[in-house]
Amino acid sequence: MAEEAEKEITTFEDFKLNRQLLNAIEEAGYEKPTPIQLKAIPVIMGGHDVMGIAQTGTGKTAAFLLPILMKVKYAQGDNPRAVILAPTRELAMQIEENITLLAKYTDLRHTAIYGGLGPKTQIETINKGIDILVATPKRLMELYIKGELILKEIKTLVLDEADKMMDMGFMPQIRQLLEVLPRKRQNLLFSATMHPKVVELSEEFLEFPTRIEVTPQATPVETVSQVLYQVPNLRTKIAMLEYLIRDRETFNRVIIFTRSKKNAENVAKFLERREYGEVRAIHGNKGQSTRINSMEAFKGGDVRFLVATDVASRGIDVSMVSHVINFDVPFVYEDYVHRIGRTGRAEQVGAAVTFANPAEMYHIRKIEKLIRMQIPEEPLPAEVEVFETPFDEQQAIARDIDHQKRSENPDFKGAFHEKKAIPKSKPKRGKGDPKNSFWQKTKKKSSKKR
Ligand code: AMP
Repeated sequence: MAEEAEKEITTFEDFKLNRQLLNAIEEAGYEKPTPIQLKAIPVIMGGHDVMGIAQTGTGKTAAFLLPILMKVKYAQGDNPRAVILAPTRELAMQIEENITLLAKYTDLRHTAIYGGLGPKTQIETINKGIDILVATPKRLMELYIKGELILKEIKTLVLDEADKMMDMGFMPQIRQLLEVLPRKRQNLLFSATMHPKVVELSEEFLEFPTRIEVTPQATPVETVSQVLYQVPNLRTKIAMLEYLIRDRETFNRVIIFTRSKKNAENVAKFLERREYGEVRAIHGNKGQSTRINSMEAFKGGDVRFLVATDVASRGIDVSMVSHVINFDVPFVYEDYVHRIGRTGRAEQVGAAVTFANPAEMYHIRKIEKLIRMQIPEEPLPAEVEVFETPFDEQQAIARDIDHQKRSENPDFKGAFHEKKAIPKSKPKRGKGDPKNSFWQKTKKKSSKKR
């Protein structure tokens, strides 16, 4: 009955976000909403206060940003209409980066203000007119008291990582802020834990909040054995994949996960050309019926390889999957758990193999934190040829590592010196997709050979 009354939300389109946002989401490479986004976005868009229990890595930032971007909509007046408070400048900068990404096709004005440097430039930016402000609590109050910030038009307040804010002793500033904000506003509180002080804070400041919780599914199925290979680049990843699957008996029913639709298509085409067995690719661009057909064929045993993006991963319920190969490391860390859960089902012993390039190793460390274990690592087998990383790919990897370092330490200047060469508006190219040049090469090579 409930199902009939409410259409199930599964895609970003289902949230009825505007075209500008949907385009930005697509360019960001988000294929489907994460669990916190599925739960929180409709409630926040409905105007309710929310108490969200979610950790970093769950997609919580976009879960509160997208409804705010819908609400604030376009540039208007001079004063901010939404404030997002963060405990540290690192987090403030990260949130601001997310806004830049998602608000790309809107005319919204936004900035992040934080301590550690003089307020002059920040004040100048604010004076030009601002719609959404990200701030650390102290700097926000400092500028307010100086008379540089007018907060009477605030309609939405977000406290992100509220538990950390409590730990860092920001309660006085938050109380002060609550005094000066308009009473009629929407409040959203996000915290990784249900710290008693957070509960106290939520009672003070939220009105009939909807509580939304996502607990990271942190324990990989015990029957799955995991192994990690550090693989320097895309071409070597292919060589390693080829090395593994030559053993047809062991690798008899394999799901290969990639980060992007393009990589999924390319890996599938590569396997097809080399005639390693039947292949199907499933990802967001494939229609529902094609996906179902592919899945059925895979289940039936006629298909040896299923190449999939994470969009497809949750629906897959197939026993007897011999191996899951993570050709790329997932962005959303919980997806690692979902991916490897596809093998080792129904008491079967399964195995998960992960390839990680130097930039992806950063995400591996985060995944290991989430699953609370170290993924056993093995050196590349001697038989696997290690190729040099082409210039484009090297740059993409260096850029990614710089980005990671900068998000952890805003003072990091970056070893990558060609930042100017990257146009701001261009979508980030996925790793392992350096202008497709490698794929082009394998195409030529294989057609010559066969
Ligand atoms: P957060 O938990 O907000 O720190 O987000 C963790 C990472 O997931 C960020 O790098 C986001 O850009 C990314 N992300 C957020 N939503 C999605 C989504 N729906 N699909 C894929 N990646 C996402």
